[in-house]
Amino acid sequence: MLLFKHVKDLQWYLQFIRSGNRKLGLVPTMGALHSGHLSLIRQSKVENNVTICTIFVNPTQFNESSDLKKYPRTPNKDAQLLLEVGCDILFMPLETEIYPPGLKIRSDYAFGKLEKVMEGAFRPGHFAGVAQVVGRLLDIITPDHLYMGQKDFQQVTIVQKMVQQRKDNLNVVMCPIIREADGLAMSSRNVRLQPEIRERASIIYQTLKMAETSIYEKSPAQIKSVALQSLDIPDFRPEYFEIVDGYTLQPLTSIEQSDYVVACTAVWAGKVRLIDNMVLISPHK
Ligand code: AMP
Repeated sequence: MLLFKHVKDLQWYLQFIRSGNRKLGLVPTMGALHSGHLSLIRQSKVENNVTICTIFVNPTQFNESSDLKKYPRTPNKDAQLLLEVGCDILFMPLETEIYPPGLKIRSDYAFGKLEKVMEGAFRPGHFAGVAQVVGRLLDIITPDHLYMGQKDFQQVTIVQKMVQQRKDNLNVVMCPIIREADGLAMSSRNVRLQPEIRERASIIYQTLKMAETSIYEKSPAQIKSVALQSLDIPDFRPEYFEIVDGYTLQPLTSIEQSDYVVACTAVWAGKVRLIDNMVLISPHK
């Protein structure tokens, strides 16, 4: 595996890859890697000749500076995991490489209602930051495929919209959520959960499963109300639980309104904010 820290060096090397007409898969991450991230690398390896993972804790997508400060950073372990899984290139830039003074990064994307709900509503500026860093990485790397996790469902939807507007010749691939044995979605933030809170964190998965089993029996409003109660246990505080259209991300009042129904939630578990989701009705069925 090759490690690059500077944009110029990486681009010099990528020239050779391009000239060989090889397919390039990009997996952007913020590090503290776990099996969820590695599943994206594996999928990219199947579909491309060269896989590049980026590790950059992007300050512009954090709406709380304490969250940025506490974000786990494990660069040596990350590099070891990427080596073991057969990643070809690791790009681990300093902030000045991604945001050099004076560089203008496109920010005129129109996400409309997609960014007004859920994460967009509770984390002001978050998606502008995500669009900024993903746009910059796409400009630097120009991959053929971009791998993102369903774990961040709204993020994938917004990045797809951004890619359409940029007119990149790029395929955005959404990869399934990888979970712990008890159902908790893997997240770099999980290491910050206190043990007694971690033990009960599978309530989020159980609540999503409850929504899945009752989707044809109860209305979205009824499911939402039961879910918010189920998540309201000591040390936990649900921020939202929404049943939305998977294309527009707008809340549904009836499942008749959509063939793609997704439940999305954000829950405070102690001092850690967790997000999760589940496709309740899939458009492929
Ligand atoms: P992050 O480092 O949290 O920014 O995540 C980098 C990428 O990994 C994003 O596309 C995430 O959606 C994805 N990811 C994070 N956790 C998981 C998971 N449990 N399963 C699948 N993908 C994930």
